[in-house]
Amino acid sequence: MVITGEIKQDTVAYADFEKFENQVVTIKGTIHNIRMMSDFAFVIVRTARETVQCVYAEEFSDYRMSEDVKEECAAKVTGKVVAGETKDGGKRYELQIHNIELLSHPADIPPVVITKKQVNCDLSTNLDYRPVTLRNPKERAVFKLQEGIQRGFREYLTKQGFTEIHSPKINFAGAEGGTNVFKLDYFGKKVFLAQSPQLYKQALVAVYERVFEIAPVFRAEHHDTSRHLNEYVSMDFEMGFIEGFEDIMNMETGVLKYIMELLRTEYANEVALLKVDLPVITEIPCIKFMDAKELLMKKFKYKPSDMKDFDPEEEQLLGKYAKKELGSDFLFVTHYPSKKRPFYTMDDPADPEYTLSFDLLFRGLEITSGGQRVHDYNAQVEKMKSLGMNPEEFETYLMLHKYGAPPHGGLGLGLERLTMHLLGAKNVREATMFPRDINRVTP
Ligand code: ATP
Ligand code: MG
Repeated sequence: MVITGEIKQDTVAYADFEKFENQVVTIKGTIHNIRMMSDFAFVIVRTARETVQCVYAEEFSDYRMSEDVKEECAAKVTGKVVAGETKDGGKRYELQIHNIELLSHPADIPPVVITKKQVNCDLSTNLDYRPVTLRNPKERAVFKLQEGIQRGFREYLTKQGFTEIHSPKINFAGAEGGTNVFKLDYFGKKVFLAQSPQLYKQALVAVYERVFEIAPVFRAEHHDTSRHLNEYVSMDFEMGFIEGFEDIMNMETGVLKYIMELLRTEYANEVALLKVDLPVITEIPCIKFMDAKELLMKKFKYKPSDMKDFDPEEEQLLGKYAKKELGSDFLFVTHYPSKKRPFYTMDDPADPEYTLSFDLLFRGLEITSGGQRVHDYNAQVEKMKSLGMNPEEFETYLMLHKYGAPPHGGLGLGLERLTMHLLGAKNVREATMFPRDINRVTP
């Protein structure tokens, strides 16, 4: 046996069919669907990214399809590539079957129908059978698209000189805070699951200047909402030597433009299949928090229940306003009240009641929180004390400030939330492969 690192490739991908028109090729995939017609049959093969229409008819070869060929069999299908037309006049290729070699047989038929355009069961059943329902072309396209988002985030930031990091997810008591942290017994010690990479990515700004992380974070959300998960993927970045928090918003706008362009060009199949309405971004408008509150009260006659934050309905109204009046799917809301932002947020020197922070709303849903952080040691210690925190519990974190940190800031962008609103989905679970919520830890 010789292992060289090269894998023998005797099959072709649908994307390369054009090169093989009228030639005999072999593809590998799963028998997705068989539709018997009077004197021929459609055998739809689900390959890694596309479904390929194969046609079985006795006239094509001596091969005779047996009863063993069933849906969800893994197979190699050999046949002649022929070009046909799609309904809208585009070119599409199919395979005239010369042979089917079965590689595996399912022990049972799928518990839900996955061969239709859509998985037609309720969300809960869909999630119960995720390993199967994800095989449906539309379902899997959601997460291919999600891959594109992460890829865009990673590619763009890498090009901008960011270093990819991984921060620990098991953290010592007192590292973060709030009510929504998961407690864990760690060899008899109480520790917490990370709610965000915040404290670590800040430490690394003094090391690499610009860092990013794409990783799961954990929130003990006690409520069952359509926008909260207990484990979600956070796309975070943090950058040093900023002139102001506008640099962070500019970087995010650049990232989003790059992501949308990547989806438009390299994920066109998924975008079309899911009928994704990709936002066109030229610039993203900004509104100050208090101006937004005023707008909600005056323009929409909304009576806010909380003057320090927005509720989901307010976010939706702001989304409508941004679309209708400013022609934008996105809206930055800046200068959130100090009282509602975490201890590491820098207050606005011009008005310390407010912060140099922002949220990004996408089609009326918060997808990002970010801002400039406190970098001065004394300022951070003072701020902690004024919030009733004990700086001694944050010794490791404060090493950043104590031993010198550049002015910096960053953000966290929820991957599932962004995916959800790109799809126009009503529930964040639709944009999560294996969601973890208050009622679900399986599959
Ligand atoms: P919300 O107010 O909607 O509960 P948050 O302000 O608590 O969110 P942040 O701590 O600002 O959330 O987190 C940054 C981003 O992470 C959010 O803008 C959102 O995209 C995402 N996010 C936060 N919590 C969740 C969650 N429980 N499930 C999925 N995504 C989340
Ligand atoms: Mg937030």
